[in-house]
Amino acid sequence: MMQLALWSGWSATKSWTFVFDLPYSASLHTDYREGYKATRSLCYVKRTLWFCMLLSFYEFNGTGSVKGTLKIPAHFTFIFLMWQKDDARTSLLILMDTPSYIPPPSRYWADLGTADFAALQASGCASKTIAILPVAATEQHGPHLPVSVDTVLVNGVLTAALACLPQYVPALVLPTQSIGLSVEHARFAGTLTLKNETILRLWTDICECIATVGIRKLVLFNAHGGNVSAMDMVARDLRARLNMRVYSVSWFNLPLTDTDGSDVTKWFGQTEMRFGIHAGDVETSMMLALDPVHVHMDQAQNFASTAQAYSLKFDILGNGKSAKLGWQIQDYNPTGAVGNAAAATADKGRITIAAAGRALAQLLTELDLLPSATL
Ligand SMILES: [Zn+2]
Repeated sequence: MMQLALWSGWSATKSWTFVFDLPYSASLHTDYREGYKATRSLCYVKRTLWFCMLLSFYEFNGTGSVKGTLKIPAHFTFIFLMWQKDDARTSLLILMDTPSYIPPPSRYWADLGTADFAALQASGCASKTIAILPVAATEQHGPHLPVSVDTVLVNGVLTAALACLPQYVPALVLPTQSIGLSVEHARFAGTLTLKNETILRLWTDICECIATVGIRKLVLFNAHGGNVSAMDMVARDLRARLNMRVYSVSWFNLPLTDTDGSDVTKWFGQTEMRFGIHAGDVETSMMLALDPVHVHMDQAQNFASTAQAYSLKFDILGNGKSAKLGWQIQDYNPTGAVGNAAAATADKGRITIAAAGRALAQLLTELDLLPSATL
């Protein structure tokens, strides 16, 4: 006959103590100790540190009992499993060295209420929580795409990431900032841009509110190249003044690999990945996957870049590293698009979104393992 007992829980605020009182014989005691030593092990499972301890209790016609205590320290999640079959009892203890965490009812900041934030603070988990501020743009994207592209993409990749993010990773997504720094597209009607000082103030103000909740880990998650320099400045300022650990992450700089580990950028080619920086094959494919109604493929062309022409003509100026142009999009192509949009397909877009989502989820899982106490 098999008997099974299972306890699990978390130990954010106190230690847990199990008291054993199990039948045993004199010889059993030795087996118990040897078994304990032999099977005690540390192992990594999916980059999460687990402490596994296997305790075996064998019963040989014995009388008496094993008495002992097992103390689980604070800040561990644990699962304790004990089973008995015939005359043997075995127990398995798994301690998970991640912050104990009771997930709020939603991953989205705006869905939560006063009681949810109060619970987050009371649990002591606020400092472990990773806030994600999605930053994007509303700017022209050539003749074939709407001005919403960067906002659609940042939300699309985030949705893909949340779908594969382990539940124990404490992440909260802030409202998407759909207007960014788009001065390089200002010559084209429809572009909405903030000024440098406005965007620094806006993002800083939002992040200061996050800090008052007790949150110390923040990801600025971006879909627009023009935002990158502003992200760097905001991140360093928040680190210096508020002791926040801030990572600036653009989806297009994440490692984009398929589930088998192969590089998905191969579907676009090296030339497109280097020069097709705006409304080209990559962004158009992702839009075909996320919002095809607003994509006009009859207007999509192979929009050549002047940067590609320079790369063939000049060794240093054209190497893409030594001299960075303070560009406006018309410097690269008068249509406001750069890249081979005509080659776009929804399948390539879906593959790219899934790869970026997986990479972001992995990144968040890794950030969860960082101690906030080092700041
Ligand atoms: Zn874009």
